[in-house]
Parts: sequence; structure tokens; C-alpha cells
Amino acid sequence: MEHNGPPLIRLENVGRRYRAGDTEVGALKDVTLDIHAGEFVAVMGPSGSGKTTLMNIIGCLDQPSDGEYFYSGLPVHAAGSDERARLRREAFGFVFQDYNLLRMVTAQENVEMPAIYAGIRRRIRWARAAELLSTLGLAHRTGHHPNELSGGERQRVAIGRALMNGAAVVLADEPTGSVDSRNGKEIMAQLAALSERGRTVILVTHDPTVARYARRRIELLDGRVVSDTGTNPGRQASAVRAARAPSQRMQAPVASLAESARTARRTLRGNKSRTALTLLGIVIGVFSVTAMLGVAQGMRNSILDSFRLLGGASLTISPRFGENSKPLTLSDADAIRSQIPNLLSVAPEMSGGGMLVGGENSESARITATTGRALQERGLILAEGAFFEEAHTESYAPVVILGGLLAGNLFGEHARPVGEYVLINGEPYQVIGVFKRNEEAFGAFAFQQRFAYVPLMTGAARLFGRDNLDSIQIIAADTDQVETVQNAIEALLSRRHGAGAFRIANQAEILAAQNDIGRIVSLVFGAIGGISLVVAGIGVMNIMLASVAERTREIGLRMAIGARERDILMQFVCEAAMVAGLGGAVGLIAALGLGALANSFTPMAFVAFTPWILLVGLSCATLTGVIFGFAPARRAAGMDPVAALRA
Ligand code: ADP
Ligand code: MG
Repeated sequence: MEHNGPPLIRLENVGRRYRAGDTEVGALKDVTLDIHAGEFVAVMGPSGSGKTTLMNIIGCLDQPSDGEYFYSGLPVHAAGSDERARLRREAFGFVFQDYNLLRMVTAQENVEMPAIYAGIRRRIRWARAAELLSTLGLAHRTGHHPNELSGGERQRVAIGRALMNGAAVVLADEPTGSVDSRNGKEIMAQLAALSERGRTVILVTHDPTVARYARRRIELLDGRVVSDTGTNPGRQASAVRAARAPSQRMQAPVASLAESARTARRTLRGNKSRTALTLLGIVIGVFSVTAMLGVAQGMRNSILDSFRLLGGASLTISPRFGENSKPLTLSDADAIRSQIPNLLSVAPEMSGGGMLVGGENSESARITATTGRALQERGLILAEGAFFEEAHTESYAPVVILGGLLAGNLFGEHARPVGEYVLINGEPYQVIGVFKRNEEAFGAFAFQQRFAYVPLMTGAARLFGRDNLDSIQIIAADTDQVETVQNAIEALLSRRHGAGAFRIANQAEILAAQNDIGRIVSLVFGAIGGISLVVAGIGVMNIMLASVAERTREIGLRMAIGARERDILMQFVCEAAMVAGLGGAVGLIAALGLGALANSFTPMAFVAFTPWILLVGLSCATLTGVIFGFAPARRAAGMDPVAALRA
């Protein structure tokens, strides 16, 4: 027996102990064994004698508890998990008794799988798998799923898979155990052919007729080698070549993200109802986050719009209610007008409710007494007629300007009521103007369209019979002077009434306050939406955990054909992120669609989406998938391949 060079496989005093409760089971004990490249070995022995354990250790699925194992001189007993995954990927090909094919993919795709983890490109993979299947006599079965194949055919597909990465060593654990004798012969013929072509084949069997195909028999009993027919001379040259072949690809990258995504897509499609349910949760979650943020944004927009219309240079003085409350009077307005410089306008305002009768109808409305100038400055636009003039105010003229909606309600949609009379609380007022209707208006501006406006002095003398103002609207000549003006007014009013009797709100402050409120509203609304996203995330986690548990064997198989822990991790995270991303996209579209629908029913933009909101929605979704998918993925990646395959 001549063998040049070191053996391909060398086991030195290898033991494998399992903990079973308090006791330890020795599955393998003190096994010392050399297997040279090109050998065809049958491992025999009664059930429980350690055959599978030996195969798993040789195939780097399992690690020895004692002793040393060298593959091609490499100390495997000291290798890390990635290194062992690499050996499984490049050097070994497993053939299991029960095939371990993936049900959801075709024969061709089953054969291709190991090459995915070896980073082989699709086209090359595809061609090689097709070639392997045709060599195995399965050219007509490439598109079939495992459940459409006979046991013998399935096992031949498994052999194809074992050879996909050009394994130097084929490990077959009772490959004929689940097929009839005719198919068993076929499978053995294939293994024998592999051996003929120089591959190392290690076969577990307890069938002596099967064992006869091998040139060497190793017998195990109770975890020990009890007989070994020894190494026979093989075809060294070709065997060594076969053994070396995979090393050219050893630095190849592992499965790419694109491959993970492809696998994830296939899995998701393979279990449609489960995917749909997970999706639904995410759709609802993202929909609520996005819709909530959209509604909050809509509110902010309309509030900000109404304030922006009032300009940045305005101030509002109003009485402060409470113990030292003082009435705000016309003489205060006069004092401000005469004593404070740099003012564009001083508009004292009074308001109260009143009953209006005009045309055929009557309507109760809010009546604001103010100056024509104040109305103009507020951005109200006349549809017809004119604003009040000084003369109206000075003469207490009984004239009225109607808000657009109010005019419509009293006189009808298309009437032109200027010149007509309305009764306000029983007294006649002539309509001198009608404000333009604005369908888009919202908040304060929508309400104003139902108001009636009378000249200030008319209101004070005729309508309200008081000269206490509700507010004085001030516009500074310049935005920069707002603060100076505000301080001057504060000082003036303190002199007249004592400190703290009035509140002076500065437009910029109101705007800032509104902005703060808007931000809080967004936050609260977003958080409410976020809760449903968290619930959806928990759903994802739940389903992923169930999926991991259900697919334990698949995970074991992927590890056996060379997937690294991080490949498995990436695959499951990818699956979760994909469901979540898809659900996120659907949720966004739903939010956009329903938002547009809601807006079409209301005069104002009730829901407003900014690109920022859409981005937040989508990234929240994907992030939810990644975060909640991570724990299940880690569980999958951390599985012990042997235990997983046993599941
Ligand atoms: P064979 O393949 O020859 O039937 P195995 O290698 O599967 O035998 O098992 C050898 C011994 O190790 C058996 O006694 C078995 O019960 C034990 N064994 C195998 N795996 C485990 C495990 N994960 N935990 C505990 N005992 C185990
Ligand atoms: Mg076994």
C-alpha cells in the first residue's frame, strides 16, 4: 500500500461526547483513522454505534470533543465556524438518507444551492446544475419539485447537489436507506462512478450488499473502530486533482445580498398566506404612521398659513382675564395711535353675536366691529362693493360688509346683495360689500366667511352699546420694529391701567408657539401611528420565530452545504426586511390614496404629505422588519447544524 503525501483525512484519537441529562454518552471513542484521496470507504456497524457522528465530524458539521482531525493537513479540530463552513462548502458533499431537498424549489435549484454560498454566478451555476442533472439521468426532471420525484430520483438530485461545488469528498449517510433495491442499485452505481472518477466517497450503510461497492470497510461498535480492511491503492493522480479542484474557488465570496433577497422572495412567495398576514400588519402600521403624520402636517400647514397671512409685523392686544382685569377701550386705541411711533395701523375691534335677516332668510352670525383698513390688512378680499371709509365710522353709519358664506346663505348663491338691506337685531343696515368666498380657507379664515362686519363706531354705539374693545390689532411699520413697538405699548398700557392688565401677543411669537404645538402634534400623532408599527413588528417577530422553528431542517441543510452563520442571518433578516419594506410601500400608497380622497371631500388640505413623511414611513417599516427580524434570524444562525438536521 503506497501513498504519497499525507492522507486527505486524518483522525487522531477522536472522541465525541454528548451530554444526556446528568450522564455523558460517548458517541465516538478514541478513533484513529487515515483516509486517502480517492478511497471508497463503507462505514458499518449497528444502529447507535457512532456512524453518523463520525460522518458529521469528517464533514465538519460537528466537532470532536477530544482528539485531532486534519483535513488535507489543516487542523479542523481548531477551526472556527466560518472555516468549517468553508470546508463544507468547498470540500464536502453530503448525501442524506432522507434526501433533505428543499420542497419549495425545483430539482435544478436544489442542485444549484451550494454554489450560491460559494458565490458562483447564476449563469454558471445554472449550466453546471443542468449538466450534473443530465449526467445523473435527470435531464427531464430539472423543473420538477421534489414531491414530483421518486425516492431514487430525489436521491440522485441530492447527489447532484453534493457535487455542485466539486466536492473532493462525498459523504453519504445510508443513502439507500429510504429507497427500494432497484433505486438503491442505481444510487450505488452513481457513487461507484464518482469513486471511479477519483472522488473520495465515504458511505454509511448496514447493508452488506451495499458495502460491497466500497473497497474498504470500517466497522464501528459502541463508538470504537473494531475492524478496518485498510487502505487500498487508488487512482492517486486523479484523486489528488479532484481533491485540489475546489481550492481554486476557496476565496470566492459567500452568498451576496442579492442572492439572499432572491431566496427570501422565493420563501415569501412559497408561503403566501403567512406573508400576506405579516404584510397586513406592516401595511396597517405604516399606513397609520404616515396618515397620522400627514394629518398633523395638514393641521400645521393650515394654522401656519392663516398666521402667515396676518403678516409678521402685527401685534394683538387683548384684555387679560382674571382679578386685575381692566377693560380695553377706544381711548386706549387712541392713546396708542397718538403716542407710539412707527405704526402702520391700529385697529380696535369689538365683536358679538347677532341675528341677521336679509333676502328671504335669517341667520345668526358673529359680528365684528372694526375699521376698513383693518379688514384690508387682514387679507380679506372683496367680491363686490367697498370697504368702510372714515366717514362711515365717524357718522356711525348703519352699513355692513358680509362674509362670503353669510351673503350666500342670506341672499342665495348667485345674488349680488350690495345695496340691499339686512336687519341686524331688528335694525336695518345697508350692505356695502361682500367678501370673496375662499373654498380653501381653513380655521379662523373659514369662520370669517360667516362673519358680518360693521364700522367700529357703528358697532360701539348701535350694536353693542359699549366701548370695551375685545382687541386692538396693531401693525408695525417694519418687522424689525415689532419688539420696540411692543415694549412701548406695554409701557403705555401699564401707565394707563397698571402692569399686567393686557396681553400683547406678537405674531412671531404666536407663530413660534404654533410651530411648537405643531411639532408636538406631529410627535404625538406619529407616536400613535408608531404603536401600531411596533405591534406589526411584534407580529413580524412572531411569524419569523415560527418560520425559523418550522424551517430548522432547511437551516441545517443550508449549513451542511456551506452557508456561514452570517449567510443564514442575512437570509432571515432579508426576509423580514423584505416583508416589511413591501408592507411599507403598500401602506404608503394606501395613505397617499386615502389622503387624496380625504382632501377631495374637504375644502382645505386636510392631509399633507411631505417627502420627509414618506421617507420616515418607509424607513420605519424596513427598520421594523430588521429590528424585529433580527432576533429570529440570530436564533436561526446560531443553530447547531447537526441538531438542526435532526429536527
Ligand atoms: P449511528 O449513526 O451509528 O446510528 P449515531 O452516531 O447517530 O449512531 O449515534 C451514536 C450515539 O450517540 C448514540 O448512542 C446516540 O444516541 C448518541 N447521540 C447522537 N447524537 C446525540 C445527541 N445530540 N445527544 C445525545 N446523544 C447523541
Ligand atoms: Mg446514523
